[in-house]
Amino acid sequence: MTPSSAYSFLSHLECSRTGERYDADAVQGTSSAGAPLLARYDLERVRDTVTPRDIAGRVPDLWRYHEVLPVRDERHVVSLGEGMTPLLPMRAYGRRAGLTRLLMKDEGLVPTGTFKARGAAVGVSRAAELGVKGVAMPTNGNAGAAWALYAARAGMGSLIAMPDDAPPITMAECQIAGAELYRVDGLIGDAGKLVGAAVGERAGYQEVSTLKEPYRLEGKKTMGYEIAEQLGWRMPDVILYPTGGGVGIIGIHKALREMRELGWVEGDLPRLIAVQATGCAPIVRAFEKGARESEPFANARTVAFGITVPKALGDFLVLDAVYETGGTAIAVTDEQLLAAQAELAELEGAFICPEGAACFAALEPLRESGRIGADEEVVVLNTGTGVKYPETVRVDVPLLAKDGRIPGRG
Ligand SMILES: *Cc1c(COP(=O)(O)O)cnc(C)c1O
Repeated sequence: MTPSSAYSFLSHLECSRTGERYDADAVQGTSSAGAPLLARYDLERVRDTVTPRDIAGRVPDLWRYHEVLPVRDERHVVSLGEGMTPLLPMRAYGRRAGLTRLLMKDEGLVPTGTFKARGAAVGVSRAAELGVKGVAMPTNGNAGAAWALYAARAGMGSLIAMPDDAPPITMAECQIAGAELYRVDGLIGDAGKLVGAAVGERAGYQEVSTLKEPYRLEGKKTMGYEIAEQLGWRMPDVILYPTGGGVGIIGIHKALREMRELGWVEGDLPRLIAVQATGCAPIVRAFEKGARESEPFANARTVAFGITVPKALGDFLVLDAVYETGGTAIAVTDEQLLAAQAELAELEGAFICPEGAACFAALEPLRESGRIGADEEVVVLNTGTGVKYPETVRVDVPLLAKDGRIPGRG
């Protein structure tokens, strides 16, 4: 393989706590310190090999950034066409929130209806390339659905465990993909214990829990690359992200730093804002105390299911991303986020997920406290489609009489 024609410039893995190096061409979990491993690339060679102009002519999916993704051989790419989601102006909602330049990156358009497909596409592709036969994970629903379907496409097995009250559609997705699926009477952490125990008994299976393997993060970081590319290789002032396990916000932060090192963007990084629900806000609590890590959040509960993570393995990386960029962390109530979800649909025609809606609900308090200026360019990540959460809308539809009369109109 000549360096100049490499599909990937992955060089090694690095412990996110100690910086210790690990071999990227072996199947790896966490570091010996129990911390997430971060993929590192030979960015100097990437800079010499590819330019934003080259990328512009490529297929509009996340594999257009393949030099900074971990899959070494293009033939191992397992894709359902994920990535290059639209970056849409939100003028009406922006007016309501007092913002002149509000944009939404809409991840509802990716396969499986959430941005989890990005992590699954890259994670499954790289696992297949390294000879993994099956993947096992606990999930709040969306990640399990995405990994089960991408594993099916890769001809790989999957073992998924999710809380009993996870969105039923995500169970249906796992089941139709042929996953070995279990429900647990508890939260994602309880599902994790079951998976940890089960994976040891299955030869060739890898545990791919959030940040316990290095490549899901690489898939999710492509949201950061896309935002910059879609703005003409420029960064916005602020990015809001609904934060659960934190992979998305950590990934965007990583992408921004890589792009700056590559010389693809210049200047200060956008302020990264971690948004949570008041029913599960460990990162917000830690931020308010100025802490570098979070405490487990007791009795976690919110309708924004994807962000119900009481204690994230990568909490310190989320907090780093927020502190380093001069961002903040903020929580909104379920009532506020559901109201924002309804307003988005009425004002913008966008039926977004409750997690994404949490970010929109956070805009008003952030404007009022002066944390976001009226004319700043603000990007909100809508991490999934509302279509996956029909139960968030109370449907109350009058029945027409047989003669077609509208009830109550005589
Ligand atoms: C998983 C999930 C999140 C949280 O993402 P992290 O990267 O784990 O913080 C947000 N929204 C939706 C719809 C999700 O499924």
